[in-house]
Amino acid sequence: METPSKTDNASNPTRNANHHQQPDDGDLDSPASDRVSRQNRPRKRKADVLPFKVGMRVSCRWRDGKFHPVKIIERRKVHDGGPNDYEYYVHYTEFDRRLDEWVKLEQLGLDSVENVAEKEKSLKMTRHRKRKIDEINVKGHEELDAASLREHEKSTKVKNIATIELGRYEIDTWYFSPFPPEYNGCLKLYFCEFCLNFMKRKEQHQRHMRKCDLKHPPGNEIYRSGTLSMFEVDGKKNKVYGQNLCCLAKLFLDHKTLFYDVDLFLFYILCECDDRGCHMVGYFSKEKHSKESYNLACILTLPPYQRKGYGKFLIAFSAYELSKKEGKVGTPERPLSDLGLLSYRGYWTRVLVKILKQHKSDISIRELSDLTGIMAVDILTTLHSLELIRYRKGEHSISTDPKVLDRHLEATGRGGLEVDVSELVWTPFEEQD
Ligand SMILES: [Zn+2]
Repeated sequence: METPSKTDNASNPTRNANHHQQPDDGDLDSPASDRVSRQNRPRKRKADVLPFKVGMRVSCRWRDGKFHPVKIIERRKVHDGGPNDYEYYVHYTEFDRRLDEWVKLEQLGLDSVENVAEKEKSLKMTRHRKRKIDEINVKGHEELDAASLREHEKSTKVKNIATIELGRYEIDTWYFSPFPPEYNGCLKLYFCEFCLNFMKRKEQHQRHMRKCDLKHPPGNEIYRSGTLSMFEVDGKKNKVYGQNLCCLAKLFLDHKTLFYDVDLFLFYILCECDDRGCHMVGYFSKEKHSKESYNLACILTLPPYQRKGYGKFLIAFSAYELSKKEGKVGTPERPLSDLGLLSYRGYWTRVLVKILKQHKSDISIRELSDLTGIMAVDILTTLHSLELIRYRKGEHSISTDPKVLDRHLEATGRGGLEVDVSELVWTPFEEQD
């Protein structure tokens, strides 16, 4: 990779023209030259480093008005601009990839150039692991190895669709999604909120909405309580719907590999229902026959419906009610998205702490697993992170101190919406025709 070096500087006409006035500016990195040439430096610097190259690390003014470190992921020419006029696609190294975006040169801090493209490979992993999402520390990539992480980030580096229209919402997307090539370059896509067909133009969409006779997801309604409904969609019977759903979901999930192989999956679509129809708020998918006891493959709450307890509802529905009906203990497939993991940790904590509060006497991991349908390893990890488990003389004991338990329960926040088991009308897949 090309880097701005002293050799480059020497051949730079702007620099040579000023040379007699700035004899001390021979070393751009020397503090002494900083003091001497401060006046002319920004412009000279700019000429030296522009255009920025992919892989460079600079700082960028974010929506909070402050500068944050970024890495340049991609660049593109500005329409009608000069030879060095580019826009830059940047990743904020402190934040999740969903905040990656195209920025103009004015937003970038010219004094912060640091080219670390290759030399920081090992460091890069550490940074990825330390990424912050909003104010919450969640590790999103911890279960991907370095090679697959690099491969993934290479193929999905730039968001392709910026916004979608779905029902009454216009939603900004978070990640790349592999829509068919003819949709490349569409900044906005229009979805039918019922069949999930997507269109490039508003008129096409309006025409479709007049014709489309679906008012809810295809498939069986297996749960209804109040205005909430859950539909079970067989990926084999509704292949196009399944594929559309996967393309839509990938816009909001960083890691997801299932796209066209939807036959082997069931999709559970959670809807808010009113007189206009059943509007999808989120979903989870599940392999029909999982050898690894996965009771959930993907989980997503659409952004307009987040922070309302739907994530925990979906988890409770999948991990608990379905697994319990099937008489199985289950666990979600990895890697989980950052928000998925956050929801799971909250759900597991809540379920386990509630049971521990009721059980004053000793209870084993095995008993907890039988009672909850949660896999033993997930129980152990959760109790560990809550510091509720202690090892003594080769045996573990679980703390049931009510004060400590109450504190944890409080910290998990609202419990979300409860699954009303009596409203569940469902037979496990094996028993269906
Ligand atoms: Zn439709």
